[in-house]
Amino acid sequence: MKNILLLGATGSIGDSVLSVIKQNSDKLNLTAISFQSNLTKALSIIEEFDPNYVYCESKANLSSINDSLERSEGIELFSEKSELEYLLKHKSIDIIISAISGFSGLETTFMAVQTGKIILLANKESIVVAGDIILPLAKKHNTKIIPIDSEHNAIFQCLNSEKNTNDVSKIIITASGGPFLNQKIDDLSKVTKKEALNHPNWKMGSKITIDSATLVNKCLELIEAKYLFDLNEEYFELVVHPQSIIHSIVTYKDGSSICQMSNPDMRVPISHALSLEESRLSLDFTKINFSSLNLTFQEFPEDRLEIANLAREVCNTGGSSGTAFNAANEIAVENFLNGKITFNKIYEVIYRTFNAVPVSNSINIEAIYEIDKQTRMEAKKVVKSLT
Ligand code: NDP
Ligand code: MG
Repeated sequence: MKNILLLGATGSIGDSVLSVIKQNSDKLNLTAISFQSNLTKALSIIEEFDPNYVYCESKANLSSINDSLERSEGIELFSEKSELEYLLKHKSIDIIISAISGFSGLETTFMAVQTGKIILLANKESIVVAGDIILPLAKKHNTKIIPIDSEHNAIFQCLNSEKNTNDVSKIIITASGGPFLNQKIDDLSKVTKKEALNHPNWKMGSKITIDSATLVNKCLELIEAKYLFDLNEEYFELVVHPQSIIHSIVTYKDGSSICQMSNPDMRVPISHALSLEESRLSLDFTKINFSSLNLTFQEFPEDRLEIANLAREVCNTGGSSGTAFNAANEIAVENFLNGKITFNKIYEVIYRTFNAVPVSNSINIEAIYEIDKQTRMEAKKVVKSLT
């Protein structure tokens, strides 16, 4: 039995993980969860999966849980950071799943990589903002990171039989193109929040759904891939594949290209990751109907190359540049979602903010938090100038 700590249990990735655990309850056990605000969902997870530990920063939420539970024995409720650290290191936990959204996921990912356990990583932002710190720390503590972001999990699977990446010639990261595929940035000034949140292939949390609509998600994924696979950005090509069936392609230097395919369903990469490269888990998935399959590919849209090139610059610069890129994007997305800026201005907020903050190459975790804070302040100024 593998015992799991699910960070961000009440989110969209949380849902997919819980579904995989439910279908493999003879092999997987939900030992602990964390959540932030969705009390109703947290309660229903606790009722159904009976975890031993629950972490939430809000003491009020924990006391509501305590009041609602029919039995309170056998469950420990934690709200202090020291308790979270204790939980991450607890010997009853085998696998930590990092599925908190955005920069907020950094703190737990940073703690988790120092446990020497297995981490299933959904929170790409923690790698984008602190890849130069997280990856060396994981190596130092012998912590294995298995990606569950679908593209990275696909690459991971395609590389599986290879001992290293020496024979790789190119890696294609596929992008669905989002709801505004084939539309120019300049034509997107009037799109509504509802339209931007209506992703054609994936049901996800709102932040990543907007990132998919702008294609900034692909930029974050490029940076994530550079760190996870320790390859120069030049190895990675971003290609639009609207059906989201092929999740990425690895081409070897002898001309073989290997891809991973499935219908767009996050439970597939999660199942793979949770198998820990042992026997595959069973999943009740929707099979691809190959006889009616029509796979198409197109170049990354020309007017989004500027943002992709900024991500390539981040890959080459490292240090705090990813922190600035991410913080600028988070503020831009937040302000689009709260109606302060139009969709097309998300890019402008990122460019102007990124260019206004200095890059530091010698960084530690405290510096990351400071740069994140400064960049957010700068981005808010840019937003203000646009409203
Ligand atoms: P959601 O917004 O659906 O869920 C986020 C989760 O994080 C919730 O459990 C939420 O708690 C918790 N959370 C949010 N802020 C905080 C905080 N400050 N402290 C503690 N917990 C917090 O996001 P997704 O599940 O869509 O995405 C999670 C991560 O996975 C992101 O980094 C995303 O990029 C990545 N990812 C997601 C994919 C998807 O299909 N959804 C695909 C690939 C990657 P609560 O709801 O209780 O407030
Ligand atoms: Mg992805």
